Amino acid sequence: MTEQAPNAGVLGDPIGHSLSPKLHNYWLKKYNIPGAYEAIHVVPDMLQRTLRGLPRKKFKGVNLTIPHKEAANLFVDERDDSARRVGAINTVTVMEGGRLKGSNTDAYGFYANLVAQAPHLNIKGKRAVVLGAGGAARAVCVALQDMEVADIIILNRTQEKADRIITAIGKPCRVENWDNRENLLEAASLLVNATPLGMKGLQPLKISLDALPREAVVADLVYRPLETDLLKEARARGNTAIDGLGMLIWQAVPAFTAWFGVAPEVDDALLAHLRQEA
Ligand code: NAP
Repeated sequence: MTEQAPNAGVLGDPIGHSLSPKLHNYWLKKYNIPGAYEAIHVVPDMLQRTLRGLPRKKFKGVNLTIPHKEAANLFVDERDDSARRVGAINTVTVMEGGRLKGSNTDAYGFYANLVAQAPHLNIKGKRAVVLGAGGAARAVCVALQDMEVADIIILNRTQEKADRIITAIGKPCRVENWDNRENLLEAASLLVNATPLGMKGLQPLKISLDALPREAVVADLVYRPLETDLLKEARARGNTAIDGLGMLIWQAVPAFTAWFGVAPEVDDALLAHLRQEA
């Protein structure tokens, strides 16, 4: 078997944890597309050079992960609407003539996964509570804004960072005090953990779900482990619980489509393939 030269990948520092190579290489093989997707360790000082070198290396594009999503705004030639609204880039596509286009597919990934895993949830006109105010939280807020959620409450340890989301995205987002998180669950239809709390090796997220209605959906963006303490508690009390793996898969769909011209399917076989690794 001949090794294919890489023509797509993910840039990060660190990068060993990424599941994206498993995902994209599964699709490349499934659709018989030449190429390979690889994890590339890139320190911040090398980001610009690495991105600008992609056309020469015949890359179709790359994904970006921690800590490059915001810095990349400076190094692409154009940004689409998603990148401008979220303020961060997770997908770079090499265009005709070698121009680099930056986009953000995390908001779409969150939306598509929510629809796939909680089809009964009608969030329009309802309340959502978002924990965290980093890039992922911002993408979630953009998705919820597009879904016409009436009240998006952002709670973050550092309140000024949450205030910046309000400045950037506007209504219906509002900021409340992190210490008040349990009371604000009352009347919420959706709770989203967009912090890394609960991730393997980190502290768990400390929150009592007592005030959360049983019909509410709980989504955790963390995908290592797949079942965080938050999701375990949510399931035990009857709430629909959604892990972070689906968002990771769905955010990759528009990137793969833009690079390789095929809209890949998200099916049970793919989920099973990735669940073994998560
Ligand atoms: P980020 O920009 O670094 O933001 C992290 C957020 O979590 C900040 O708001 C931070 O609060 C908060 N936080 C961190 N440690 C905390 C602690 N000990 N107590 C309370 N709050 C804490 O990270 P990100 O890119 O938004 O990613 C957030 C999480 O989402 C990560 O676990 C990431 O892996 C996951 N994610 C998953 C997907 C997916 O597809 N499933 C996609 C994107 C991200 P401060 O502002 O106070 O520091």
